[in-house]
Amino acid sequence: MSAYQPIENIVIAGGGTAGWLAAATLGNIFANTSTQITLIESSQIGTIGVGEATIPPFIAVIESLGIDLVDFIQQTQASFKWGIQFPNWRKKDHSYFHPFGTVGKTIDGHDFFQCWLKTLEGKDAMPLMAHSKEAILAEQGRFFKPFEAANTPLASAQFALHVDANLVVKYLKRFCEGKGVKHIDGKIEKVSTHPSGDIASLTLDDGQLVNGDFFIDCTGFKGLLIEETLASGYEDWRCYLPCNKAVTVPTQTSEPLNPFTIATAQDAGWTWKIPLQHRTGNGYVFADDYIDDDRALNTLLNQVGEPLQGEPQFIPFKTGIRKQPWKANCLSLGLAQGFLEPLESTAIHLVSKSLALFVRTFPNKENNELLRNEFNRRLRADYEEIRDFLILHYCETEREDTPFWRWCKHEMPIPASLQQKLDFFKRGGGLIPQVEALFQPTSWYAVFEGMGVRPDAYNPTLNALDANALGKSLSAGAKSLQTLANTQPLHKAFLDQYCCAPKP
Ligand SMILES: Cc1cc2nc3c(=O)[nH]c(=O)nc-3n(C[C@H](O)[C@H](O)[C@H](O)COP(=O)(O)OP(=O)(O)OC[C@H]3O[C@@H](n4cnc5c(N)ncnc54)[C@H](O)[C@@H]3O)c2cc1C
Repeated sequence: MSAYQPIENIVIAGGGTAGWLAAATLGNIFANTSTQITLIESSQIGTIGVGEATIPPFIAVIESLGIDLVDFIQQTQASFKWGIQFPNWRKKDHSYFHPFGTVGKTIDGHDFFQCWLKTLEGKDAMPLMAHSKEAILAEQGRFFKPFEAANTPLASAQFALHVDANLVVKYLKRFCEGKGVKHIDGKIEKVSTHPSGDIASLTLDDGQLVNGDFFIDCTGFKGLLIEETLASGYEDWRCYLPCNKAVTVPTQTSEPLNPFTIATAQDAGWTWKIPLQHRTGNGYVFADDYIDDDRALNTLLNQVGEPLQGEPQFIPFKTGIRKQPWKANCLSLGLAQGFLEPLESTAIHLVSKSLALFVRTFPNKENNELLRNEFNRRLRADYEEIRDFLILHYCETEREDTPFWRWCKHEMPIPASLQQKLDFFKRGGGLIPQVEALFQPTSWYAVFEGMGVRPDAYNPTLNALDANALGKSLSAGAKSLQTLANTQPLHKAFLDQYCCAPKP
C-alpha cells in the first residue's frame, strides 16, 4: 500500500445551513483525530435564512449525528410533514397530494400501482391516494405514535420536518462546539492559490491568514471560492425552469397546524406555506418575465391571511448547477453549488447527499482527479433527476389562463431524460429505475396522477385478475387505513404532548 498524505486541515467558508451541516458531519467523523475542521463565517453578511421544508432523509442525517430528534424538534420549533399538497397545478380548483413513503404493497407479486390501474375498470375504484397512509394522515391532520402503531400498516409511514432555518444553524453551531470545530467570525477578503491551481489560504478582513489542505465553499450564491476564484462555470437551467426570484415573509401561526407543506400554483409561479410551532413561513417563487415584484408581493400578502411577523424579503436566484461542483481542492455545497427551486424541498437534502458522496470519495492531499470526477458525475445525476421531476409539475398542466401557464403547457422544453420517463409511463405505467434515485415510484405516480397523466394500459400480466374483486380488496384496505389514522392524535396535540417547543 502506498502512503497517501492525509488531509489534516479542512476549511469551511460560510456558516449557513450548508456550512454548519458540513462542519457537523465532518466534525463528527474527525472528532478526536488530528484532522482540524475550521469554519469561517461573516456575521456582517449573514445567512439567507430560508430553507424550512425538508424530506425524510433529513431525519436520518440528524439521527446519524447522534442528535436527539425530540430535542432537535423542540429547539428548531419544528413541525411534522407527511408530504406536499399541490393546489391549482393541473387546473384551478384541483388539488393533489405528493406523500412520502410508498403507496400500497405488492399483491401476489404484482406492483400495487398496476393493481390500482386495473381497479379503474371495475366498480370499487378509489383515488390512488386513498391507499397512502401518509396522504390519509395528512388529510386528517394527524401525527401518529410510532410505539402504539407498531405492527400496523402505519408503522412504516415516512415523515420529514418543517424547521426554522435560523434555529437549525444555531443548533448545529452548538453541536459543533462539542466536536472541536474551530469557529472564526470574519469576512474573507482574499483567496490565494498555489501555482497548481489549488486554493492555499484565505485572508480575513482583520489580516488573519487561514491555511488549509482542503476547502469547502458554502458562501452562498456567489461561490467565493468555487466561482469567483476557481471559475468552475455555471450551467444555467432557466430554459427549463423559468422561476428566478422569491419573495418571502413570516406570519403568525394559523390553525389548524397542517402536517404538510402547501405549494399553491399562482399566475406566474407558486406560493409556499410552511407551518412551524412558533410561526408560518410563506413565500412566492416566481418568474420575473411574467410578473413584477410589486404584483408578486401583493399576491403573497393576499394569500397569507395571518398578521406578518417580519419584513418581506426578495431573493433572486439562478436555477442550475456548477459545471464542476468539486474543482481542485475545493468542494462547493448549498447555494454555492447550484440551485433548484424549492418546490420539492430538495436543497438541504442535496447538501447532506453531497456530504455523503464526499465522504465516500474522501480525498487525500495528492491528485484526486478520479474521486472528483466520480463525485461530480454522481451529483450531476441527482440534480438532473430533481430538475426533471420539477419540470413534470409544470409541463403536464392543463392551465392556459396566464402567459406563464400557456408557456409551460405549450413551450416548456422537456429534457430527453424526462421525455423518456413520460413515454415509458404512458405506454404501460412503468418507470425506468435509476441507481440511487431520490424519488421513488410513489413520487412519480403521485405527480403523474395528480397532473392527470395516465398510462394507455396496465401491464398485460394483470389481464386475468378480476377488477371488481381487486377493487373490493383494495378499498377494504383503504378503509382500514382511514379508521386506523382516525385513532391517532391531531398534529398539534401530538406536538404539544411530545415535542412542544419553548415559547420564543
Ligand atoms: C427562496 C428559497 C426557499 C428555499 N426553501 C428551501 C426549502 O424549503 N427546503 C430546502 O431544503 N431548501 C430550501 N432553500 C435552500 C436553502 O435555503 C439553502 O440550501 C440553505 O439555506 C443553505 O444555504 P447556504 O448555507 O448555502 O447559504 P447561506 O445561508 O447564504 O450562507 C452563506 C454563508 O456564507 C457566509 N459568507 C459569504 N461571504 C462571505 C465572506 N466573504 N466571508 C465570510 N463568510 C462569508 C455568510 O456569512 C453565510 O454564513 C431555499 C432557498 C431559497 C432561495
